[in-house]
Amino acid sequence: MRGGWQLRCIDAMRFVFFSSSLCARANRLVSATTRPNVISMSSPAFPAESCVVAEVRPTPNHGERKGGKRPDMILLHYTGMKSAAEALERLCSPASEVSAHYFVFEDGRIVQMVQESRRAWHAGVSFWAGETDINSCSIGIEIANPGHDFGYPDFPKRQIAAVTALCRGIQTRNTIAPARVLAHSDVAPSRKQDPGEKFPWRTLHDSGVGHWVEPAPTGKGGGAVLALGDRGDAVAALQERLMQYGYGLVANGTYDSATHDVVTAFQRHFRPERIDGIGDASTRATLRELLAQRGRVRTIAARARDFARLRLSS
Ligand SMILES: [Zn+2]
Repeated sequence: MRGGWQLRCIDAMRFVFFSSSLCARANRLVSATTRPNVISMSSPAFPAESCVVAEVRPTPNHGERKGGKRPDMILLHYTGMKSAAEALERLCSPASEVSAHYFVFEDGRIVQMVQESRRAWHAGVSFWAGETDINSCSIGIEIANPGHDFGYPDFPKRQIAAVTALCRGIQTRNTIAPARVLAHSDVAPSRKQDPGEKFPWRTLHDSGVGHWVEPAPTGKGGGAVLALGDRGDAVAALQERLMQYGYGLVANGTYDSATHDVVTAFQRHFRPERIDGIGDASTRATLRELLAQRGRVRTIAARARDFARLRLSS
């Protein structure tokens, strides 16, 4: 998994054991004589589905959404490659067997590669709220950023503005709850860390995208600190709350490596000030508040539905 070739965030979707480094190697081994023929099999162009899209560049790497699923989740990634151009080329290469619906350059330019009705291959082995086929229920956005292995620069403001506008449009065309705008690391916490703790989830939330509460302050005090190896009811309670939010875990009461990974992913998204995988008071309080606020949003939505039904029946 070392080197600059592979997209660190992307895995082959259909083949569990087909690692991205292998994809990269396979891609590299396509000979100069065979490559043009392969590329000629790429999908025909389609109209852009969003006015913020600057270019449509179809990739052949997509399929049917399984079980008639419609997208109800947005999954955000970083490319994890040194160059954006290289990452885009890889996403459009049939040999890579990876893709996403959209690609956002550092300067905010947006390319659409897969129609929203189709299943792009970006999530890999993943889980969220009982769902294991994340590709079938999500729209994937690749955000150009070299990632943790290559210096992990800040996301430029223009790029974040573009991602926000793109997500807002996706939300008008699909029914996507705020708490289902997620990081790749949320759905694959033991494998992925993108788009990472520098991604400004709070900024997106301020523009109507995603779920966010002000993180509880870090610092000393505030109850027990839970860490790797701990056991007991407090660990089980934390695990249950993480599962309730959607994370894939087993509530076994042991702070195992899976729990550490999920807490780390949670912190990257919701408490980015400190990423250490420790279940401290700030992490636990932030999670409790997220659950409480999500419940309140649901209650308001349920009341709106009741009101609509009353109007229809009157
Ligand atoms: Zn990713």
